Formats: sequence, structure tokens, C-alpha cells
Amino acid sequence: MELNPCLKHKLLRKTVREFAEGVLGPIAAEIDHEARFPWEAVEKMRALQYFGLQAPLDLGGAGLDTISYAVVVEELSRVSAGVGLCVSVHNSVALYPLLRFGNSEQIKRLAPDLCSGKRIGAFCLTEANAGSDASGVETMAVALRPVGGQDYLINGTKIFVTNGGVCGLALIFAVTEPGANQRAASVFLVESERPGFQVGEIEELAGMRCNPVSSLFLEDCRVPAANLLGRPGDGLKIGLTALDTGRLGIAAQALGLAQGALEAALRYAKERQQFGRAIAGFQTIQNYLADMATEVEAGRLLLYRACSLKDAGRPFTVEAAMAKLFCSRVAREVTNLAVQIHGGCGYSKEYEVERLYRDAKVTEIYEGTSEIQRLVIARGLLSQPGGRPVSS
Ligand SMILES: Cc1cc2nc3c(=O)[nH]c(=O)nc-3n(C[C@H](O)[C@H](O)[C@H](O)COP(=O)(O)OP(=O)(O)OC[C@H]3O[C@@H](n4cnc5c(N)ncnc54)[C@H](O)[C@@H]3O)c2cc1C
Repeated sequence: MELNPCLKHKLLRKTVREFAEGVLGPIAAEIDHEARFPWEAVEKMRALQYFGLQAPLDLGGAGLDTISYAVVVEELSRVSAGVGLCVSVHNSVALYPLLRFGNSEQIKRLAPDLCSGKRIGAFCLTEANAGSDASGVETMAVALRPVGGQDYLINGTKIFVTNGGVCGLALIFAVTEPGANQRAASVFLVESERPGFQVGEIEELAGMRCNPVSSLFLEDCRVPAANLLGRPGDGLKIGLTALDTGRLGIAAQALGLAQGALEAALRYAKERQQFGRAIAGFQTIQNYLADMATEVEAGRLLLYRACSLKDAGRPFTVEAAMAKLFCSRVAREVTNLAVQIHGGCGYSKEYEVERLYRDAKVTEIYEGTSEIQRLVIARGLLSQPGGRPVSS
């Protein structure tokens, strides 16, 4: 008998929570402090199929729906946001575009290793002159035999690559003709063992420190035309489609962080005594907690609605942008209040809210800053009669 979706999501949440608390919980502070990628936990996540969440079963994936993907990222991030980031980026902006735009040969050759987590995926769009404006991509892929185009030689530098230090397959955005319209980038599937593919310095980040975010250098990196994803010039389409799904993952990550901070604040408020009583007895603290819980719950509804639109095959670009915009703000505000409720202890590394506070900020920056999410939302509104999102 098929379980009803609500029950399925509840059971999944319970399993992921048990894993996160049991395996990530004891090491979360240490991997942040040491900026160490937790390979020991990754081994276990491979067995739990966290690297192939929405991929079909015959490729070794778990075949889950999009709400399940959000639940997994949310629960991992509630305990270790850097691990949640790894899983979110791998599934949404590396594996998903391969499954969506890859041909059957590429999927058969590359997807099983991604689904099993043998190769960790990375999405490499950002460069020194290409941030919010992706049309600034300068990485160049030159066809070695323009007629028939058998191989490409890629040269360029990517920066801020999540999973960069551990990636086995990178989606590289590159332009194929000097001086061509730079909006016409293409995407190449580049295995990390190819000569000319080199991982740069790991970034010294304020938060998400267990994720090895790095630069990547491509120096005469030779890639067969069989590794071109989609057609030449499809880069913008592939990138935007991947980011729609990616933004659901970042919203889930932000939500998990906020949930973790809310729970920590509740615990502390009940324990900490001042003026002869628990600080939870003060109305100001109660107001903080009430606002935090309300914001988290509102973010959850916005996110799950966007996920269910995707599962129903309906447009969800605007709703994904709304979920990311809202949940990332909630993460920043809720972690800030959680620190405030902890007083001086909230500013100490002894307490997890200090880490959650540092981790939260970047959710307003990557996979499109909040300013860019507003552009996406406004564009969607303005293109619809009556100014309603496409899905309404
Ligand atoms: C930890 C981390 C991990 C990352 N991981 C990845 C990854 O895996 N892959 C990848 O490709 N990139 C990644 N990035 C890069 C990230 O996506 C970019 O930093 C982000 O898109 C912003 O680009 P930028 O830093 O160049 O800022 P800019 O584009 O230079 O923006 C600076 C400011 O100007 C604002 N701005 C820019 N244009 C507009 C506009 N039109 N209207 C209003 N305001 C505007 C921005 O919102 C921002 O406030 C990561 C970044 C970080 C910090």
C-alpha cells in the first residue's frame, strides 16, 4: 500500500533528524571550527541516498518528490548548515541539470556516480567579473576541430565554488566564441581528474566553514564534445532552470538554520535564570520567541508550496524566488534573536547559535542575492495581468 504523502514526509523527517542529531550533532561545532569536510558523515549519507534524492531508482537515486528534497536539506541544515549546503548544491544545481538536459549517454555515464555520491557535484558560474550578472562569463571553451567539434579546450577561473575542494564533477559555464554574445554561454560536464582541472585555495569563510568552497582553475583542460550539456549556447537556460530548483534548496537550508536557532533559544530561555526567574517568563522574550516561530512557520508554507508546484509540473520560478527571499531573511533575523536571547553566551563559540548566526547570512547572497530575487519576483508580477504570480 502507498503511504500518503504527509506520512511519507513525516517519516522521512524523523529518519533524517535521527541521522543529523546522531552523526552530525557531535561533530558540527568541530568541523566548523576546523573548516573540515566531514568525510565520515558523507560515507553514511551515501548509504542513505542523500546524493541522489530526486533521481530515478534505476540510476541509483531515491526517486523522492521535491518536498522530500526540501525536508532532507532542512533537517541536515538544522544541525549542520555546511553539510546541508553540500547536499543541496549537489542535488539541485549539479545532478538535476544533468538529468534534465543531459542526453541518455551522458546520464548513463555520469549520473550513477553522482547518485551514489562517489562523485560530488559542483556548479561553476561565478567568476571575478560575473556575479549577479552571469553574462560576464569570460571562461573560454574553444572547439579544437570547429568542423565536427570533437574536443574543447577550456581556459578560465571560477570562484566561490561550493563543494569545490571535494568535487568529482563540475558544471562549467564557458563561452565558445571570442567576442560572441556572452549571454550565449555553454555548459560543460568536467570530471575533476581531467588534466588542466585544478582546485584553488579553499576560501576562509565566516560561515558554512565545513564546506570546502574554493576557486577552480581550468588551464588547457581538454573536454570531449560528448561532455557538452544541452546545445552550444544553452548555458543561460540551463543555469536559470537549475537555479530555480537550487533556490528551493537554499530556502530549505535557511529554514533548517532558523528552526535550529529557535529550538536553541527556547531551551536557553527556559533554563536561564535572571531576577529570580527563567528569562522565558519575561514578556519581551516571549514576544521574540512568538515572532521567531511565526516567521519560521510562514517560511515553511511558502517553501512547501513552491515545491509542490514543481512536483505538479507548474511554473514555480517566482514562488522559488519568494521562498528563498523570505526564508533567508527569516534565517538572518531568527538567528540574530536567538543570539540576543542567549545574551553574552550567544556570542561565544560554546553555544551553537553563534555558528548558526554566522551560517545564516550567506543564504541571502548565494544562488542569487536578495536583490536579484526581488528582480525575479517583480519580473514575474509585471508580466502577468493583474500582477499575480504565475501559479495563482
Ligand atoms: C559561500 C559561497 C558559496 C558560493 N557558491 C557558489 C557556487 O557553488 N557556484 C557559483 O557559481 N557561485 C557561488 N557563489 C557565488 C554567489 O552566487 C555570488 O556571490 C552571488 O551571486 C553574488 O555575486 P557577487 O558576489 O559577484 O556580487 P555582485 O553581483 O557584485 O553584487 C554586489 C551587490 O550588488 C547588488 N546588485 C548586483 N546587481 C544588481 C541589480 N541588478 N539590482 C540590484 N542590486 C544588484 C547585489 O545584490 C549585491 O548586493 C557562492 C558565494 C559564496 C559566498
